[in-house]
Amino acid sequence: MTDPMNIDAKLAEFPRTRLMSSATPVERLDRLSHRLGIDLWIKRDDLTSLSFGGNKTRQLEFYFGEARQQGADTILITGAVQSNFVRSAAAAAAKLGMQSVLQLEERVPGMGEHYYRSGNVLLAQLLGAEHMSYPVGEDEAGADNALHERADQLRAEGRTPYVIHLGINHPPLGALGYVPGGAELNEQIGDFDAAVVPSGSGSTHGGFLTGLRLSGQTAPVYGICVRRDRDQQHARMQKVLGKLADLMQFDPALVMNGINVWDGALAPGYGQVGSSTREALTLMARTEGIFLDPVYTAKTFAGLLGLLAEGVIHKGQKVVVLHTGGQPALFGYQEELQPN
Ligand SMILES: *Cc1c(COP(=O)(O)O)cnc(C)c1O
Repeated sequence: MTDPMNIDAKLAEFPRTRLMSSATPVERLDRLSHRLGIDLWIKRDDLTSLSFGGNKTRQLEFYFGEARQQGADTILITGAVQSNFVRSAAAAAAKLGMQSVLQLEERVPGMGEHYYRSGNVLLAQLLGAEHMSYPVGEDEAGADNALHERADQLRAEGRTPYVIHLGINHPPLGALGYVPGGAELNEQIGDFDAAVVPSGSGSTHGGFLTGLRLSGQTAPVYGICVRRDRDQQHARMQKVLGKLADLMQFDPALVMNGINVWDGALAPGYGQVGSSTREALTLMARTEGIFLDPVYTAKTFAGLLGLLAEGVIHKGQKVVVLHTGGQPALFGYQEELQPN
C-alpha cells in the first residue's frame, strides 16, 4: 500500500465554506445485526448539522466555497420536486446571507398532492427560496441551461449568481466534499468488510470511496443504484472518479477497480416506492427506531439486504451502511407510504 495521501492538506487547496460542525456518529445496530447475522454499523450522515441534515451538507461546502470566492449573492440549483439537495442549498444560502433559486424537475410520474406541497417543498418555501419548475426529469443539460437563463436575468438586474450544476461535465465539487466523509469513517471504525452507500449523481459514492482508499481502506464499497441501472451508473461512476482524480491529482487506478454498483432495489424507478423499498424502510424503523427516506436510503438498505441474500455480503461480516438523510421526503410521500 502506498502512503495514504494527506487529505486535509490536499483539500486545503480548494475554497471551502464550513457547513459541518462535527463528525457524524457511527452506531452499531444491535437488533438488526442479530436478526441479519452480520455485524452491522450505520454512519449517521442524516445527522449533519444543516437544516434536517443529510449528505448534501458535505457536498455543499465546496460549492459555497467557490460561490463565495466569486462574490456570489444568489445560488441556483436544480433537482427533483422532493430534492434534499435544493432544500439543503436553500438552507446554506440562508445561513450565509445569500438568496437561492430552486428549479424543481418533473422526475417522478403519478405522485399525489403531498409530493408537491409537503416535505422538502414546504421547507424550501419556509427558507424563502425562489421556485421555478422544469417540465422533464431526465435532461441534465437542459435543466442546467434553464438555470443559466435565469442567472443571466439576475446578472442583468445587478445580482451575482452562482450555478450549482447537475451535469456531469463540471468539476465534481460535491464528490470532493465526500472525500473527508470517507476519511472520517475510516478513523472512526477501523477495519470493516464492506460499506453500502447510495449511488445517485455519484458524488457521495465517488467521494466516499475515494476518501476511504486515500486513507488506506481497501474494503469493497457497494453503490446501490437509486436512479439509473447498473451499466449506466457504472459508466457514470467512471466519469465522476476520473474527474475527481483529475481535480485532486491522484492516480485514478487507485479507485477505478473499486467501482461496484448494484441495481436490484431500483425498481420501479427513481423516486418510486417498490415493495422492497417499503419493507426496508419499515424494517429499519421497527427494529432500530431509525427512519430511512423513501427515495435513497430505504433503497440503499434494501440493497444491503439484497447483497446479503445473493451471498455477496456474507454472514458474520462487519458491514457499514451510510445513512444519507432525506427524511423530510417522508412527508411528501404520505399517500405512497400510508398502509391502505
Ligand atoms: C442526494 C441524495 C442521495 C444521492 O447522493 P448522490 O451524491 O447524488 O449520489 C442519497 N441520499 C439522499 C438522502 C440524498 O438526498
